[in-house]
Amino acid sequence: MTAEIIDGKAFAADIRARVAEQVAQLKAGHGITPGLAVVLVGEDPASQVYVKSKGRKTVEVGMESFEHRLPEETTEADLLALVAKLNADPAVHGILVQLPLPKHMNSDAVINAIDPAKDVDGFHVSNVGLLGTGQKAMVPCTPLGCLMMLRAQLGDLSGKEAVVIGRSNIVGKPMAHLLLGDSCTVSIAHSRTRDLANVVRRADIVVAAVGRPGMVTGDWIKPGATVIDVGINRIDAGEGKTRLVGDVEFDSASEVAGAITPVPGGVGPMTIACLLANTLTACCRANGLPEPE
Ligand code: NDP
Repeated sequence: MTAEIIDGKAFAADIRARVAEQVAQLKAGHGITPGLAVVLVGEDPASQVYVKSKGRKTVEVGMESFEHRLPEETTEADLLALVAKLNADPAVHGILVQLPLPKHMNSDAVINAIDPAKDVDGFHVSNVGLLGTGQKAMVPCTPLGCLMMLRAQLGDLSGKEAVVIGRSNIVGKPMAHLLLGDSCTVSIAHSRTRDLANVVRRADIVVAAVGRPGMVTGDWIKPGATVIDVGINRIDAGEGKTRLVGDVEFDSASEVAGAITPVPGGVGPMTIACLLANTLTACCRANGLPEPE
């Protein structure tokens, strides 16, 4: 069997086009421009790439992008003061503080200082609680993108066996909640899971969010399963070059799976598209307007 490749890049482009259309309608009909503020502290090279890309895509869909780059030595108090300012700014509908923050800061305190209504990353404890109790929440962008691809690929997810590998607050846990919300039978695996290969083998849906290049191999995959590879790992490609690979060994897994996301071009582009969709939703809610579909 050769798996169908789930084209996250094309899917994300469709979402961005839809967001752009709705932004244009908001501007024309109500004179409102959604605004997204992204805060980056320090010089982490991967974070700098993400922030640049987010800023560019925000402007492309017609939103306002407010970028705040602060030096590594910024104090937590100064960062909290900036968050408070953004919370109070009516032109800002979404706030994203790029993680990881420098070690001298308490990330939880910073994230929980964001107005939950502007928490487009969905990491504020209020949004985590709303998602966990099945209420309307701001949903974290990466798992939301995964869920959208799964629904598009499989239709109704009800009753499917889903295994999420990874239990981070950013990906694994919210992913599991979303799948549970769609009535999957969900297992969450992690570094202490015994006989991981056999756990994964029973899954109709595998979501790998680990950060270990090629850890999930084809012999772990149930024939016909749908595999969502969240991992982004930069590995040595020889001759001084590097390349990005996922947590799934693509060549062997695509021989067995029914459908699989590539890395790059799978989950990554969907994450930014969902961030823009969340910002649009936040803007509509803030202005008492109906939320986009
Ligand atoms: P974390 O490091 O926060 O979590 C990794 C999880 O994997 C942990 O729960 C850990 O278990 C588990 N794990 C580690 N080793 C093993 C193992 N040998 N067997 C089973 N489980 C293991 O990572 P994130 O959730 O933040 O990110 C995961 C991956 O997804 C990374 O590659 C990251 O770059 C990528 N990512 C991609 C995004 C995108 O837009 N495409 C967005 C966010 C992340 P334990 O809890 O026991 O330590």
